[in-house]
Amino acid sequence: MVEITSYEKKIKKHLSFLGFVRVENKYKQEFATKEEADAMCNLLDTYNISYLEYPNGIVRSNDYRKQFYQNIKPIIGSWYFCAYCGKPIKEEALTVDHILSIRKAQKSKFLQWILLKMNLDDINDSKNLCACCKKCNQKKGQKVSAAYVVRGILSRKRWFWITYYLLILIIIIWVIYNIGNI
Ligand SMILES: [Zn+2]
Repeated sequence: MVEITSYEKKIKKHLSFLGFVRVENKYKQEFATKEEADAMCNLLDTYNISYLEYPNGIVRSNDYRKQFYQNIKPIIGSWYFCAYCGKPIKEEALTVDHILSIRKAQKSKFLQWILLKMNLDDINDSKNLCACCKKCNQKKGQKVSAAYVVRGILSRKRWFWITYYLLILIIIIWVIYNIGNI
């Protein structure tokens, strides 16, 4: 996939002629082989057009929410939990987060390697999706860190939430018990 985000108006026609398709103010084109994509990049270099080149499949899909709901069921009833702050969220109010951010994966060879190792050829695979609240989604933005990745993966496991809330409950009981004994 070759993506052009900044371009001058006068080259628009030229980009369409080269086979680029305009999506949300960006010009994109997928290639069957890496060689073909590289050849296009060489051509763009000669025109001094800046671009991003990354493996196909690292683009936000329109149906990733659908992917999420189909593959990740609510933890209890119709409730999910925010992967990053632990808050319970109703099915219809949740934000679906890409654990490995799309923008970062497009730019980082390391993240592309991780995706490959995770057996994901599409960044919208449900294995890369988790539930979170709006606030955490905004706070996380494009950040990728080990802590975010671990929380993202654990948040899909029911046993994780049972352990998480059980621990909180034990702490609360312990505090109440100790206050009572002062
Ligand atoms: Zn949250």
